[in-house]
Parts: sequence; structure tokens; C-alpha cells
Amino acid sequence: MSRPPVIVRTLPALRRALDILRTRNASLALVPTMGALHDGHVSLVRQAKRRAGKVAVSIFVNPAQFAPNEDFAAYPRTWKADLARLTEEKVDLIWNPDAKTMYPAGFASKILTEGPALAGLEDRFRPHFFGGVTTVVGKLFAQVRPDLALFGEKDFQQLRVVARMARDLDLGVKVMGVQIVRERDGLAMSSRNRYLSPEHRASAPALYRALKEAAKRIRAGDKLAPALAEGAASITAAGFKLDYLEARHAETLAPIAARKDGPIRLLVAATIGTTRLIDNVAV
Ligand code: AMP
Repeated sequence: MSRPPVIVRTLPALRRALDILRTRNASLALVPTMGALHDGHVSLVRQAKRRAGKVAVSIFVNPAQFAPNEDFAAYPRTWKADLARLTEEKVDLIWNPDAKTMYPAGFASKILTEGPALAGLEDRFRPHFFGGVTTVVGKLFAQVRPDLALFGEKDFQQLRVVARMARDLDLGVKVMGVQIVRERDGLAMSSRNRYLSPEHRASAPALYRALKEAAKRIRAGDKLAPALAEGAASITAAGFKLDYLEARHAETLAPIAARKDGPIRLLVAATIGTTRLIDNVAV
């Protein structure tokens, strides 16, 4: 049985723990999460272990990135299981602040990002989202001061937004993306997959199938518009309400008209039942 990670919940305790962790001059990686950990999160932790001497994981369900009509209250909280997984992975530190520590009375500041944060993808459907994400991630970077931070490609726009922010604001953190981990049938792992009814769970892989098929057609020389239109039709036919299925430049997220303007990333968001899922693939 591995030694459990050091668990800290207050800023003074975090500072003390970091002083000890950093004494051996080891590099430090941070994996920010909202808990309800699955193999996707574990893959970030494993990459972190490969690239840094010490690994910290933050678990904080960030109220600022949920709109009033979203699932903040219902978001899964699975502390015991999360702790067991992070112990197994030999994580050094868990930073688990409460909302009052992150947003003390009178809190009145926000990190405002443009560029990829205004690409017209997630921001079009969740206008509050990136303001909440950048502010909390900026705070996590200031609190933990990691050398490296790992984010999943699953949240592709978020990865681009956070990487841009870290560069623009000279935060001294290298932001690294990690490949999407999928279920055997292709569905991208997500803490929200547990909301799916058995029937919707069975339909959900249609999202990845549509992305893969569209990417294949584009690689084979088909025009973007018909490949995406067919993908959209198959997603709708599987019972989803589609927010977007788009081809974007993989770095800037700018709209793209032809394959030669790439590298292309195909990104999708759609709701089945009451569960909104996102996914993406490279072309
Ligand atoms: P969350 O707890 O959902 O906020 O996710 C925390 C981090 O894990 C984010 O950087 C996500 O992009 C990443 N992540 C979530 N699901 C996956 C997945 N299936 N594969 C890889 N990374 C993921």
C-alpha cells in the first residue's frame, strides 16, 4: 500500500507543504481537476509523474464556471474513491480548498481572456465558462507555483485558452496537453458520463464515430462542408441536440475553409437527454 498524498485545504497549509516538497529542488507538476476522477485524469497524473519530480493534484469544483442553470449542485463528488486513486498513483500532494478559501468575502477580480476564449465554440453556449476557468486556474498557478501544468485535450478550447493565458501573463508555467482517454466504444471519458441513462449511454459513442468519419472523409480529400454536414446529420439521428460541429485551426481555433489552411481539429458539443457532451479529433 502506497503512502497517501499530503492533503491540504488551507493556504497556510499549502505553503508549508510546498516548502517541504520543493526542498529537494524537484520540479513540480500540477494537474487541476474537479474530482470525480476517471482514467482520463489518471492519464494526466501519469504524464505529470513522467515529466516532473513531484506531482500535485487540485480537486476543486469551481462554482464560478457553472451558470445558474448548470449542474454545480449535482456535480459528482467522490472524495474517497479519488483519494484511493491518487494514493495508488503516488501523487505527492492534493490541494482541496473550499469555496471560501478560493473566493473569500469581497472577492472582486477576474482574469479576462480573448483570442481562443472568444472562438465561438464553448463560449457561444457557455458565456460565463472561460471567465470562471481562467480565474480559478490563474489562482491555482499563483498558489501552487508549478513548473508544469497538464490539461486534457478533451477540453480542447480550454487547453488553448489556458496555454495562451500562461504565455500572455508570463505565469512561468509550461502548459501541456494530454491525449483524450476513451471508453472501449470510443466515448470520451468524462465525469458527466455517469449522468447518462443506459439508453443514452448506448447512443453516446455516435459523437466520436461522427468525428472520426468526418476526419476520414476530409483526409481523403472531401470538402469540409459536406463532411461536416453528414457528421451533423448522424449525430442528430442518434438522438443528440447539436450545439456545434466545426472544423477549426488546431492552434488558433480560427474558422477554416479548406484542408490546406490546417492543421485542422474537428470539435463537437451536443446534448443527449439532459447531458451535454463535448469531444474533438485531429484531422
Ligand atoms: P475536470 O475534472 O473534468 O475539470 O477535468 C480535469 C482535467 O482532466 C482537464 O484538464 C480535462 O481536460 C482532463 N480530462 C477530462 N476528461 C479527460 C479524458 N477523457 N481524457 C483526457 N483528459 C481528460
